[in-house]
Amino acid sequence: MSEPKSLAGEAEQLDAADGLAAVRERFVLDDVTYLDGNSLGALPVHVPARVEDVVRRQWGELRIRSWEESGWWTAPERIGDRIAPLVGAAAGQVVVGDSTSVNVFKALVAAVRMAQEDRPGRDEILVDATTFPTDGYIAESAARMTGCALRPVAPAEVPSALGDRTAAVLLNHVDYRTGRLHDLPALTAAVHAAGAYAVWDLCHSAGALPVGLDEHGVDLAVGCTYKYLNGGPGSPAYLYVRRDLQPRFDSPLPGWNSHAEPFGMRSGYAPASGAVRGRVGTPDILSLLALEAALDVWDEDGVSVAAVRAKSLALTDFFLRCVGAYVPDGRVESVTPAAHAERGSQVALRCDDAGEVMKRLIERGVVGDYRAPDVLRFGFTPLYVGFADVERAARVLARTLAG
Ligand SMILES: *Cc1c(COP(=O)(O)O)cnc(C)c1O
Repeated sequence: MSEPKSLAGEAEQLDAADGLAAVRERFVLDDVTYLDGNSLGALPVHVPARVEDVVRRQWGELRIRSWEESGWWTAPERIGDRIAPLVGAAAGQVVVGDSTSVNVFKALVAAVRMAQEDRPGRDEILVDATTFPTDGYIAESAARMTGCALRPVAPAEVPSALGDRTAAVLLNHVDYRTGRLHDLPALTAAVHAAGAYAVWDLCHSAGALPVGLDEHGVDLAVGCTYKYLNGGPGSPAYLYVRRDLQPRFDSPLPGWNSHAEPFGMRSGYAPASGAVRGRVGTPDILSLLALEAALDVWDEDGVSVAAVRAKSLALTDFFLRCVGAYVPDGRVESVTPAAHAERGSQVALRCDDAGEVMKRLIERGVVGDYRAPDVLRFGFTPLYVGFADVERAARVLARTLAG
């Protein structure tokens, strides 16, 4: 390989050597440089036809027979088993349904109930002080309902904040603003050493980097499917309940779909066994099956989470280099950690007039997003973002900042 003369030339070489480059063809994209897949993943090309089949044939022709014949009834656990390998979980521990917000509620209340069953007197929930807001709001309500105090703590401070009173700890794996990746293995081990339960929110990690839920003994986890898993707007979230905890998982939303015998129509509740216990009501079939179709992209040759992670780090490294080369010193400041072990799949740049700058970037065909008060956020989905996109985004950013 000859030495490239420019960053644009280097991007070309990196794209040519990219083992995941062909996966981009599986997505509907255009001339826009789309760096907002951490908010809404792009549409896989084959999904519209699959959704049309679900609507026209499964619903339109088979009607009620589809609950059995088209596998609608078992879709939440079947699709959970498709997500499981992407988050390092063996089958039978993930169920899909409801929003992330609702799953945070189920997981956190269930975690506190287990902790209080282990040892009455555990009456404190620690929550990531930098959390995506919905987790904090839900945690506040979960704390009130379970008689706990809620204590916001920065993830790095969790080990020193843990104690006899801690029942559960709710953490984000990747900070949605800064892109900082937290140390899931070490924090989970610290939570366990204190006799408490760890609930992880994987919204910004699943589909972008290895999570290793089983390997690291995570108790409960939740995440959304419309970001790096490309499930579509509002596609249902998932809930992971570690196998050995499933018999103790006492859902605060024990709907009939989680009953041992849902069609027994009994007046008394008896929970099903397994991850199915995390279900609530009738699943959102159209969204669920759009997600199922979207997950086919992962079955393509060569798409492993390890390959995705390697490319993600290469993309964010290259973006930081291009920004460093093109943007005048001091105009933006990266708030995303430089260390790979601490970086998710996005780069967040602090910038004085971030809202206005992002508006102009979008007008020029580079779509990222703005997070109040001063952050430009760029998400890198390795399945469809290439190195030329990265170079162009940095170049357009520099031009935009120049006025
Ligand atoms: C995107 C995101 C959510 C979204 O929750 P919804 O219930 O799907 O709206 C929750 N938590 C985190 C960390 C997120 O990044």
